[in-house]
Amino acid sequence: MKIFVVSLQKDGKLISTSFELIEATKSLGGELYTVVMAEQADTLAFELASRGGGKVLAVSHPNLRYYNDEVYVNVLSELIAKFSPALVLGPATFYGKALFGRLAAKNGGSMASDVTNLALEDGKVVATRPHYGGSVVSKIVTNSDGPFFVTLRPKIYPESKDGIGEVVVESVEATGLEPKTVIKEMKVESAGSVNLAEADVIVSAGRGVKGQEHLPMVQDLADSLGAALGASRAIVDAGWIAYSHQVGQTGKTVNPKLYLAVGISGAIQHLVGMRSSGTIVAVNKDKDAPIFNIANYGIVGDAFEIVPALTKKFKAELSS
Ligand SMILES: Cc1cc2nc3c(=O)[nH]c(=O)nc-3n(C[C@H](O)[C@H](O)[C@H](O)COP(=O)(O)OP(=O)(O)OC[C@H]3O[C@@H](n4cnc5c(N)ncnc54)[C@H](O)[C@@H]3O)c2cc1C
Repeated sequence: MKIFVVSLQKDGKLISTSFELIEATKSLGGELYTVVMAEQADTLAFELASRGGGKVLAVSHPNLRYYNDEVYVNVLSELIAKFSPALVLGPATFYGKALFGRLAAKNGGSMASDVTNLALEDGKVVATRPHYGGSVVSKIVTNSDGPFFVTLRPKIYPESKDGIGEVVVESVEATGLEPKTVIKEMKVESAGSVNLAEADVIVSAGRGVKGQEHLPMVQDLADSLGAALGASRAIVDAGWIAYSHQVGQTGKTVNPKLYLAVGISGAIQHLVGMRSSGTIVAVNKDKDAPIFNIANYGIVGDAFEIVPALTKKFKAELSS
């Protein structure tokens, strides 16, 4: 079985999920190809090869600098036609999800998104994924003749650290590289905005922080832990913070090692987006807040006392 791993890059650097995808293929056996597309893909390809990426197909072109649905789908479709992989694996990140739906439609395959486990049973790839906030778990196999397209939830598998591989420079049809939409520049939305899906530590704020003017207090705590800043929908809807920070049913699904919720009640729509986190710590002044039902550690108290105290402690620990 040929397996394609699609490794995405941002600002010329590989996203860490690439190495998790490689790790996930190890239990499947088969012949591994990793595809990397970038303005200059060679260095990235060598890094992937040295960490077990198998045959690493490197495609370099100025139009591959930024993620672009159209161009990325064209390039990958050409490589899929050339190598005929049975399984095409990518990250269940913002761009990965956008790419794979389109890719599956164009290549006539089947698709499973946000998968949390991959296994081989009776010679078939079985993708496991949770539904309804984890209340239902389904195992998906494909009967389609086309490739099986799967996006894997970040932070489930560890990163592949080493292995063998070789770099193969691929060139593709020039027509596929000419997009109808040209992306000239990408700007980070705001300072401190990071990719929640890939963060190891997330500190999230809810309506309990009372107002936008108090968010720097929570940001300080996040900074002291090197964490990404998350948010409940209540404070996104209130306009205190951008939607890109929202965790939950209509926001992002996250899976960090540590999730610290400040002034968040724990509504089911928030929980479905973060309940699989490694360790959950909640700060809430209401001892009966539902968030405490899933928290590993609960601090009952006023966020305006607890958060600065934690920040001070973490900063002191890190500087000692
Ligand atoms: C279709 C749908 C989709 C939704 N999607 C999402 C989603 O993706 N993500 C999401 O988060 N929500 C989502 N919601 C909204 C969700 O139902 C809740 O309304 C929301 O999560 C509540 O946000 P919150 O916990 O910040 O606010 P609240 O529920 O108002 O909770 C505030 C908490 O802060 C505590 N508090 C107050 N003062 C302090 C203090 N000084 N110190 C410490 N604690 C304090 C309170 O005790 C309370 O528990 C969705 C709702 C619907 C209907």
